[in-house]
Amino acid sequence: MTSDPTVNKSPASFNELGLIEPLLARLTELNYQQPTPIQAQAIPGVLAGRDLIAGANTGSGKTATFALPLLQQIDKLSARQKATDKTDKGNYVTGLVLVPTRELAKQVADSIKSYAVHFNGAIKTLAVFGGVSTNKQMLALRGGADIVVATPGRLLDLISSNAVKLDNVKTLVLDEADRMLSLGFTEELTELLALLPNAKQTLLFSATFPEKVSALTQNLLNNPLEVQVQSRDASTLVQRAFTVNKGEKTQVLAHLIQTNLWRQALIFVNAKNSCKHLAEKLAKRGIIAEVFHGDKGQGARSRVLDGFKSGEIDVLIATDIAARGLDIEKLPVVINFDLPRSPSDYMHRIGRSGRAGEVGLAISLLDYEDYNHFKVIEKKNKIRLEREQVEGFEVDEIITAELLKALKPMAKPEGSGKKKRKNLSQANIDIWLNKS
Ligand code: AMP
Repeated sequence: MTSDPTVNKSPASFNELGLIEPLLARLTELNYQQPTPIQAQAIPGVLAGRDLIAGANTGSGKTATFALPLLQQIDKLSARQKATDKTDKGNYVTGLVLVPTRELAKQVADSIKSYAVHFNGAIKTLAVFGGVSTNKQMLALRGGADIVVATPGRLLDLISSNAVKLDNVKTLVLDEADRMLSLGFTEELTELLALLPNAKQTLLFSATFPEKVSALTQNLLNNPLEVQVQSRDASTLVQRAFTVNKGEKTQVLAHLIQTNLWRQALIFVNAKNSCKHLAEKLAKRGIIAEVFHGDKGQGARSRVLDGFKSGEIDVLIATDIAARGLDIEKLPVVINFDLPRSPSDYMHRIGRSGRAGEVGLAISLLDYEDYNHFKVIEKKNKIRLEREQVEGFEVDEIITAELLKALKPMAKPEGSGKKKRKNLSQANIDIWLNKS
């Protein structure tokens, strides 16, 4: 992505970004000492009204990147204009933030409310998302809202019941655009975009830029400011890969949890059922874990998440629904019990730890069947981790070497023209066994 030469590249102080006093005072209270790179690069342009396309993950400080200018712009709307909007436009919305998950809707709305405390209630922010009663949200939307943070499906429901109108939206934020499209929100997004006025500011955030997102950016953005940042200082997050014997992941996991005395651990598995099974197996070893997945009701999901965030729950077993966006302060460790299917999900999962400059640890447990897939994850994410073993749970060298030798070579796409892959070499097996 090319960058705009007028963009401030070195993280300045918040004072230099053009933010107003109620926001600066709040940032001081929150102990934000310096803007993150994305904040330094994007906030002045966004304040000036430019569209933005940002390549940024959660953890980069992107919520404040759109929330601070949005609050400032809304605060500056004249009282007359606000009154006109309220009376003429009914259930108006001024700033609309679209996000892919319910948890993220709540989290982003909470962040915006927190940044807005010194506006003394003058800016109304609401989160609307599915899985909970619509009535309460309809009531809350009466008379409109300055900022609505929404998941697409529920927002469309509310529009069709006339609880909210989008024709007054002045700023649209698409958060985690790639995630939204991969979750199958394409049709809903198209429907929503058609309801928005043409003249508006659009801010688009996406960790990756697959074709669908690129198409969206072309149609939606007008001479956007382009900013690309790394999610965090990589040195704050340590990644480790432990090889284990087939069938011993649970034992190794329990051992790691018990010996390392982690205050909180987030464990990822690939299926909703696996959450329950793993929790049961850990319980037999004296470890109490809660589960978090898409089949749980919204109330239960919120309770578990709040409990985990507050430290009441030590161990949380989750599917990838927890991999994106969630901001759990000072989460010390993330463990891949199952490897994520997609390499980009690996980055999202491990990004739950080591956020905002905190030290974090990401562990992947690998049995021989994970060999090929973990190599792909490493290659795609341009990382290379040493294969380590856990003391007391060393891999059986003879059996593992045999299993690795018998492993099917990775299939090549048909017609790729490349030679058929050979089975694993002794050198690769030695690397896996940490013997080289
Ligand atoms: P986000 O990428 O928006 O999910 O933010 C990640 C975390 O960084 C959140 O806990 C924010 O409160 C925190 N954060 C955002 N900006 C800053 C900053 N400039 N200084 C310190 N912490 C920040």
